[in-house]
Amino acid sequence: MTMKVGAHVSISGTRVSSDDEKPPYDDIRNAVCRQVNFGGNCGQIFTTSPQVWAQPDISDEAADGFREESDAKLEGPWVIHSSYLVNLCTPKEDLRRKSMESMQAELDAADKLGVPYVNVHLGAHTGAGVEGGLDNAADVIDDLEVPDDVQILIESDAGSGTKLGGEFDHLAGIIDRTETDIGICIDTAHTLVAGNDLTTPEAVDETVGRFDDVVGLEYLEYIHLNDSKHDVGTHKDEHALIGEGYIGEDGMKAIVNHPELRDLPFALETPTEDGRGFAWNIQKVKELRDDE
Ligand SMILES: [Zn+2]
Ligand SMILES: [Zn+2]
Repeated sequence: MTMKVGAHVSISGTRVSSDDEKPPYDDIRNAVCRQVNFGGNCGQIFTTSPQVWAQPDISDEAADGFREESDAKLEGPWVIHSSYLVNLCTPKEDLRRKSMESMQAELDAADKLGVPYVNVHLGAHTGAGVEGGLDNAADVIDDLEVPDDVQILIESDAGSGTKLGGEFDHLAGIIDRTETDIGICIDTAHTLVAGNDLTTPEAVDETVGRFDDVVGLEYLEYIHLNDSKHDVGTHKDEHALIGEGYIGEDGMKAIVNHPELRDLPFALETPTEDGRGFAWNIQKVKELRDDE
């Protein structure tokens, strides 16, 4: 089986077109070309700017084109990363409402694009407490209308401040509370700094086993494959080039070849440093893989 690996790619820029009537707009089809150019066959997108409250604006034509080009050129699956402003755990009514609207728009966009996953962080409980925050998040998730072919993925977090999702217990806690069929996305950098060792084959095996015990591997749908500029338990979220951070080549090699992880899709959110961007990082992952 071919490894599923790709990058978080931008959709930005206008599609080259002879139709001058159209206003400039970001074209989702750009993501497919960029993914192919990086050597990826699956991956992640933002549908709109993740730093502001904005609704995805995808024409029918662009959506159809994205589906067709993805089917023709990529293995898949894609995942949409929701806005960074979304906070499912919040006790504040206004933020909860905006988070709901944003998530519903992403879920509808995923349905339109044929993307099976919308990835989201639990957010920060900001005083509601762990239990209260998880209750809030479950309420939001269960109030959403999730299209049949789309699944919400809760991403593991670095766990700084009152942000939830650093502990495997939090991931299990949201699965227990919601009536919605959600999945989990593990970010390797976040998981490391949240306190789970991934630096050696033995450590990876132990962490995967503990995830299975606490959460259940059957919920794990996607992996954000990032190395980390910070060590185990620091709760600092800064991604590093594959093999060049604290996870290192040994840890990365163990992750991408682990029998319980190797068939999952891997999306990279690695930085560009010294001219080494996604193409370099994807190539590095393929070199670490035993059968590629
Ligand atoms: Zn994320
Ligand atoms: Zn991160």
